[in-house]
Amino acid sequence: MRVEEITDSITMIYMGKLDSNVYVVDDELVIDTTTGLLHGQLLELMKKAGIDTNKIERIINTHLHFDHMGGNFIFEKALVGMHFKDAELLKKNKEATYYHFFGGEIKRDSVDFLLQDGDRIKTANHKFVVVHTPGHTPGSICLYEPDKKILISGDTLFHHTIGRTDLIGGSDEDMLKSLEKILSLEFEMLLPGHGRAIMRNAKRKILECVRAYEACEIPS
Ligand SMILES: [Zn+2]
Repeated sequence: MRVEEITDSITMIYMGKLDSNVYVVDDELVIDTTTGLLHGQLLELMKKAGIDTNKIERIINTHLHFDHMGGNFIFEKALVGMHFKDAELLKKNKEATYYHFFGGEIKRDSVDFLLQDGDRIKTANHKFVVVHTPGHTPGSICLYEPDKKILISGDTLFHHTIGRTDLIGGSDEDMLKSLEKILSLEFEMLLPGHGRAIMRNAKRKILECVRAYEACEIPS
């Protein structure tokens, strides 16, 4: 477990391999909330990092998987946002979160605001655009900040690899299109849903990995 100051206004909290990374933006927005199984430790780490969790107004889940939304209950007062396609799937089929795989229970499954491609998310110092990137799940999103060239990529793209497409609602075909969409963006920094962040030259660094992935896919 550790806390990393990514920039003056973005803090990353790493809880361990099974949990998503948590990004806190301007002490008002939380992107992904882990499984919530270690909620006490998560709150402790945030407190130590000087984050006033009472001020968190919004949560955005990059997708519906339990390791990204299980901890939504921790920030009681915050409103939850998710892409409408994953919100639909969550309503229809709780198993699609894989909560059972993590041995947890979904304590808060409500979604308060629905997101779609092109929506804007503003905080004190940041202006993100929602980029719909299906493939890992039907409603996976990235948050992109063109001005600061930051891409928050959820489970679509990691430091060295691409998100899996064999889970409920996943699609290889969608993933390939989403990766092309991502490559059309200019970004320097990649903040993935798991593992290490890339602080510089992110697009160049992930290009090889994306091209290798594309080369392995047999067009249908
Ligand atoms: Zn996932």
